[in-house]
Amino acid sequence: MTQLIALDDVAVIDNHCHAVAADQAVDVPAWRQFFSESSDPSMRSHDVAQTAFYQRLIRAMSEHFGVADAEEPVLAARSALSAAELISSMFGDASIGGVVVDTGFPPPETAMPADEFRAVSQTSYVALLRLEVMFQQLVAEIGSYDDLVSAVRSALSDVRGAGYAGFKSVAGYRTGLGIERWPDEDARAAFASARAEAERAGSVRLGYKPLLDTLLHLAFEAAAAQELPVQFHVGYGDTDVDLRRASPLELRSVLEEQAYRSMPVVLLHGCWPYVREGAYLASVYAHAYLDVSYAIPYVSRGERMAMTRAALAVAPFTKLMYSSDGGGVPELHWIGAHEGRRALAAGLGELVADGDLDAGQARRAGEMILRDNAWQLYGFEWTPS
Ligand SMILES: [Zn+2]
Repeated sequence: MTQLIALDDVAVIDNHCHAVAADQAVDVPAWRQFFSESSDPSMRSHDVAQTAFYQRLIRAMSEHFGVADAEEPVLAARSALSAAELISSMFGDASIGGVVVDTGFPPPETAMPADEFRAVSQTSYVALLRLEVMFQQLVAEIGSYDDLVSAVRSALSDVRGAGYAGFKSVAGYRTGLGIERWPDEDARAAFASARAEAERAGSVRLGYKPLLDTLLHLAFEAAAAQELPVQFHVGYGDTDVDLRRASPLELRSVLEEQAYRSMPVVLLHGCWPYVREGAYLASVYAHAYLDVSYAIPYVSRGERMAMTRAALAVAPFTKLMYSSDGGGVPELHWIGAHEGRRALAAGLGELVADGDLDAGQARRAGEMILRDNAWQLYGFEWTPS
C-alpha cells in the first residue's frame, strides 16, 4: 500500500490567492455565489450546491465546526464568529505561513484592508499588482497615446519600491494569451477605440488586443529588468475566458523571447484543464513555474489527484508551487491548504511506491512545492523554520 509522505508540519506559502471580504456575514444564497465561475444566475444559486467540491467543502466545515453536515448549521456556526475570529481560526487551523495576494479581486471597497488581513491571518504577506486594472485606470485618465506609454513606464519603474512583489495578468480573460507585437499604428488605433469607450461609459474594459498586448510588453520589459515574477491567469475561469485562447501553449512567443528570460512566468490554476501542457512548459523553460491550485478549480478529489500526478510526473520539483486561489471567504484558503498537503502527501507517496523517489527525497519535494519555492521566488522576509 502507498505510504503518505508526512507534510502536516509544513506551513504553506499560498503563492496565488486573494483578499477576504471585510464583511463575512452571508446567508445561503450569498454563500453559494463564491463557489461557481458561471455567469448564469441559476448556476450560482442552484446547481452549484450539486458539485463534488461544494458538498465536500460543506462536509469538511461541518467536521471543523462540529455541526451537522448541511448548509444552514455550517453557516450558523461560522456566523457565530466575528470576521477576524473566523479568518484567524481558519488560517491557523490550515497552518498558512505566507500569502501572495492578487490585489485585483475582490475590489478594495469590499476587501478586508491588507494590514488587518495580515494581522488576523498571522501570515507573512506580499502583494501583486494586477496589470490590466492599472492599464484600464490610466486609459480612462489619459487622452494621448504617447502620454499613456510614458505613464505606464514610469508607474512600473520601481515595482518593489511601490510595494509589490510582482505582477498578475488576466490577458487570458481578455484577448487571450497569444500576446503579440503590433505595428505602432495598430496600437494607436486600438487606443483611440479604448478612449472612445472610456468617454462613452466612464471606464474601459481592455478588450483591445493591439493596445493590451503593447502595454503588456512594456510591463514584461519592466519585470525582466527588475527580475519580477509575472503570474498569468491560464485555463479555467468564468465565461469571460475563451478557453481555446487560454492554453499555456499560447504563451510560446513570450516564453521564447530572450529578453524576458529574467522574468519568472507563473502559470496559474495548474492551467487546468491544460495541466500537462503547463507541467511540460515548467520542465523546459528555466523561468516557467506551474502553480498547482487546490481550492480553485472546483473539482473532485480524484481530479485534484490527477492534476497533482501530472505536475509531479514531469516538472522538476523546483518549478512547482502550491496555491489555493482562495478569495472572498477564508474557507477557500483553508480547504486548499489541507487538501494540497493531502494530495501531495499521496502523490509523492506514489512516487516512492513506484521507486521514483526515496522517502527523504519525497519529503524534500513536498517542502519545496508547499513552501520553499514561493518563499524564494517572491522574496518573503521571513525564513521558514
Ligand atoms: Zn486568482
